[in-house]
Amino acid sequence: MQHLVVPTFVLDADRRVIIWNKACERLTGVPASEVLGSSDHWRAFYEEPRHCLADILALGRTEELDSLYAAHSEPGEAAHGLRAENWCIMPKVKKRLYLAIDAGPIYDEDGQLMAVVETLRDNTEQKLAQMALHSLAIKDGLTGLANRRSFDETLEADWLHAMREGAPLSLLLIDVDHFKLYNDTYGHQKGDSCLRHVAEVMTKQVFRPADLAARYGGEEFAVIMPMTDLDGAVRVAERIRIAVSDLELPHSASQTTDRVTLSVGAATVVPTMDQNPTDLINHADAALYRAKHSGRNRVVGGELVAAE
Ligand code: GH3
Ligand code: MG
Ligand code: MG
Repeated sequence: MQHLVVPTFVLDADRRVIIWNKACERLTGVPASEVLGSSDHWRAFYEEPRHCLADILALGRTEELDSLYAAHSEPGEAAHGLRAENWCIMPKVKKRLYLAIDAGPIYDEDGQLMAVVETLRDNTEQKLAQMALHSLAIKDGLTGLANRRSFDETLEADWLHAMREGAPLSLLLIDVDHFKLYNDTYGHQKGDSCLRHVAEVMTKQVFRPADLAARYGGEEFAVIMPMTDLDGAVRVAERIRIAVSDLELPHSASQTTDRVTLSVGAATVVPTMDQNPTDLINHADAALYRAKHSGRNRVVGGELVAAE
């Protein structure tokens, strides 16, 4: 085991380190002499005392897995070993690493636990690549807001949740005023930069964890707000509208004012079986249409009521 290329350490039945191999020394920066005979192995991975996977296995405390690991195997078959993944602080090497961890028990002839072997694999690069891919899949490239796909999925999920709870669900559709003229006047690059500014405002103004700010498409944005009635939705919409207006981004060709402004349609529903998320979108869209046609740079809201 000393010369295995896989970082490995072994605990005895009293959870004292009896083997800490060379690869484990390299991965953790902790020499075997510092941990052998002790139960201080956690120090190689974390700053605060806690159980490692081998301890959990030795103690049979599989109920700790959920709170201590980012992911783990089903603990039901713990007698055959445990598998988990986690971000580790690695205090000695001062590098956050995402480790894939296996803990396997060794029993004597009477079925008594003699030792637990823990092997480690550095999965940091794969994890970071996976996180980057995930971010690409759910985020809009230009603004960093949620993209249309995650908007659709979130609205569907929030809709079902609101229906179960009998709770209100609100939606804002936000459209930049005279944006075609903005592009015509300042060019597409400036247009893109303007959209980024609007997105930044939305990120700041939409801060409740349950809410989702998304790029709906082109120069249109959307905000999904669970557990929010129409008054609340209109308040958030006004905040966003005013914050963008306060940026004072010049828009000399605008037929509304001399700066970039937004029109917002707000809609709220307590979802019922005979409606679907598209009804809420259409309702917000109709409100947005009214905002556009009553002078732009304003918020118009409407409650969607179930058909009698
Ligand atoms: P209104 O006040 O009625 O909304 O007028 P508008 O000109 O904003 O409306 P319209 O929907 O006709 O125009 C939207 C424009 O937004 C057209 C398109 O060139 C521009 N646009 C859409 N997506 C992007 C983008 O990603 N970047 C830039 N720069 N422009 C975009
Ligand atoms: Mg538009
Ligand atoms: Mg527009």
